Amino acid sequence: MYAVIYMQSIYGYTQEMLVNYFQSLGEKPYRVNQLLPWLYRQKISSFDEITNMKRDFIEKLKKDFYLERLECVTKQKSQDGTIKFLFRLCDGNLIETVLMTHDYGYSVCVTSEVGCNMGCMFCASGMKKKLRNLTASEMVLQVLMVSIITNLRISHVVVMGIGEPFDNYDEVIKFLKIINHPLSLEIGARHITVSTCGIVDKIYEYANFDLQVNLAISLHAPNDKIRNQIMPINKAYPIKEVIKAIEFYINKTNRRVTIEYILLKDINDSLDCARELADLLHSLNVYINLIPYNEVIEKPYKRSTKESMIAFFDYLKKRRLNVQLRKEQGADIDAACGQLRSKHLK
Ligand code: SAH
Repeated sequence: MYAVIYMQSIYGYTQEMLVNYFQSLGEKPYRVNQLLPWLYRQKISSFDEITNMKRDFIEKLKKDFYLERLECVTKQKSQDGTIKFLFRLCDGNLIETVLMTHDYGYSVCVTSEVGCNMGCMFCASGMKKKLRNLTASEMVLQVLMVSIITNLRISHVVVMGIGEPFDNYDEVIKFLKIINHPLSLEIGARHITVSTCGIVDKIYEYANFDLQVNLAISLHAPNDKIRNQIMPINKAYPIKEVIKAIEFYINKTNRRVTIEYILLKDINDSLDCARELADLLHSLNVYINLIPYNEVIEKPYKRSTKESMIAFFDYLKKRRLNVQLRKEQGADIDAACGQLRSKHLK
């Protein structure tokens, strides 16, 4: 019998997986702690650059692992400093990654799938069906590539790019473990946020995940009637179920949950909607992010007027909810999820 070992991307290996690999070759586990900084601090592009390991072990690494890069097809820079990258994966698929500049640091918005199957009516990503999940290494490489290209230390990561992270749960979890490790990219767990359209089973699972990572929920409507119209996932997991899962998550983790709410003109931006939303959320430890809609040419939805957005915000404030009206970033650069990618696929 022959064991066939395929080459794998080293960026998809958690510290634990590398320890197992090292041990299987009779190497000491602590040597993994020598390898990680080469990968994520020195950001080597060839194993030959490693100077503190035996030659024959380096040759073995070269046989078992890729040390690959993503090809940057194009970059768009917006006036506020937001940069959107279009990367080509090794099978030719295109994905978007966004770098945002904040007063507290730099965050990268990571794509989790090629396309998306959730079919939210207002979103450009869902116009292209999901072709496949991304691997953990392809998500790690998005953060690594942005930091290599820009020479910046990335402090925050949000999984809010194209795709539904909880529809690719296992690889996303592996990705979070890899970028969080103190000897790799060292993105603090509290600086990581995963956003879901509300896959309830996975919210429960995520509540039990050991890292102190944050959760954001794309709610976008205060009741099932409106949510069913704009988010098909609501038919599988109605609002009541989502709220129950959020409560569980908050009780289990003691962490505040972010509620995302895009304001769509004449769909979900009335004061009645604000009232219903306040009734739904007032007893929960949540932070509401009101988001101006980035219009998508192919979609009928419009951004709410400034007056409606402010009135909605003021009402929630008056009800003593934690709320912010998000300043939009990168509106001049196809910043809405999937817009740059769909342009290139035309
Ligand atoms: N599938 C996950 C993460 C990707 S979408 C989720 O649904 O949360 C990230 C966020 O961008 C979601 O809140 C999504 O509803 C929102 N979004 C999608 N299209 C948008 C647009 N055109 N303008 C503003 N926000 C948008």
